[in-house]
Amino acid sequence: MSSDAITIFDTTLRDGEQSPGCSMTTDEKLEVAKALVELGVDVIEAGFPIASPGDFEAVKRIAQEFGSRTTICGLARSKIDDIQRAGEALKHAEKARMHVFLATSSIHREHKLKMSKDQIVQTAVEMVKRAHDLIPNIEFSPEDAARTELDFLCEVVEKAIDAGATTINIPDTVGYATPDQFFNVIRHLKQNVPNIGKAVLSTHCHNDLGLAVANSLAGVEAGARQIECTINGLGERAGNAALEEIVMALRTRGDHYKVHTNINTPKLFPTSRLISRITGMQVQRNKAIVGQNAFAHEAGIHQHGMLQNRSTYEIMRPEDVGYVGTNLVLGKHSGRHAFRDRVKHLGFELTDELFQKIFDEFIALADKKKDVFDSDIVALIENHTGESTDEWQLLNFHTLAGTNVLPTATVEMKRNGSDEVIREASTGDGPIDAIFCALERVVQVSATLRDYHVKSVSSGKDAQGEVSVEISIDDHNYHGKGLSTDVVAASAQAYLKALNRALADRKANAK
Ligand SMILES: [Zn+2]
Repeated sequence: MSSDAITIFDTTLRDGEQSPGCSMTTDEKLEVAKALVELGVDVIEAGFPIASPGDFEAVKRIAQEFGSRTTICGLARSKIDDIQRAGEALKHAEKARMHVFLATSSIHREHKLKMSKDQIVQTAVEMVKRAHDLIPNIEFSPEDAARTELDFLCEVVEKAIDAGATTINIPDTVGYATPDQFFNVIRHLKQNVPNIGKAVLSTHCHNDLGLAVANSLAGVEAGARQIECTINGLGERAGNAALEEIVMALRTRGDHYKVHTNINTPKLFPTSRLISRITGMQVQRNKAIVGQNAFAHEAGIHQHGMLQNRSTYEIMRPEDVGYVGTNLVLGKHSGRHAFRDRVKHLGFELTDELFQKIFDEFIALADKKKDVFDSDIVALIENHTGESTDEWQLLNFHTLAGTNVLPTATVEMKRNGSDEVIREASTGDGPIDAIFCALERVVQVSATLRDYHVKSVSSGKDAQGEVSVEISIDDHNYHGKGLSTDVVAASAQAYLKALNRALADRKANAK
């Protein structure tokens, strides 16, 4: 029996990027867009072009590079300037969509917009038409739809479809809906809007009560055929519906939902890790589908059952979501060939140059550390992504610390595109503080450290440490990660990554 396809609309780059501390550089956004295309999402909401020059540039470049493979969407308020700017950014995409929104709930009408119902309908119609003149594929969202009077919601939706909208998105903007109620909203629209057959109904649920995924799935049961969601459930406040949970629920319980998606599920885990690395937002260990513990069985009785038959305690296979465990795979004597196979198996395609670099690092790591795990290899590779565009590179450092000495650090650095080596030194409260100060001196930016933590990538006393930092400069937060068996080196890399990110952001928005 053929089942309906659900359109997966990913808004990691728009709603997700809007969450505090999750901002990405343009190059990082392109990297995410590439991963989303490979994951198989149907629509990528690439940003909100009028929000900043950086946002505009990112949407434009994503439209140019990926707009022939996946539909690229840009967001616009119901304002002429917004729509023109979005149209400008999207015009290079073969498959472009504009997402126009206007709040419809009484609380937003009265307190935010100060507009009557008639004015809302009129504005929505006019703006959908304007947008439609620029881009044929229009999605309209009545913001705060889940709290809008049903009769009025039907009226707005009907008029927006008449004006040219082919997707109607129903956002639960504040995360207030319950599954039953959300089901009823979608069903009510299906049954009472006369032209509803001309548009696809979509869900956009926030997770303030932890119900985003449940509400989205209730929407599907009521007839919605597009779900808006984000990788790792990123998004404003408590976030959006998690893409990986939606996709695996629809797949694992296909018997119940009787729909399917086009997602290449073994890419879920790698994509989740990529987003976590780029945004600095850690995935909680027990997170469904992509948490580190999602496929771990500790209890003896479960392990016993698993050995007899995996299905006793396992409803999904780890390989179906691309889960990478801490399997011992390679040691010092594993050759190039074995390493290349492993890298491929882990889902990476590396250029020859990068492969050589990673292989050298792997040999160096295997020298320091007896066992090299899959998670170590993934961390080594991920540690290199995006570095070619970093403005500053750390070549060497030296620290001195101990009891009764003043901690000092010296760094040798190089600017992208220049061969001149710049040296600086600084003292500090400890070796890490000293090195942070020395880095700031070279880069000539001063930042406040807001968050710092270290975690081990695999197990053992010789494990690689991954350091994450969050810094703040002029009220903007930037994060960075670093990886090494030496915690001072990992800290320096992480801090420099965050500084590089701040510099890139400045550049993108200076235009
Ligand atoms: Zn949202």
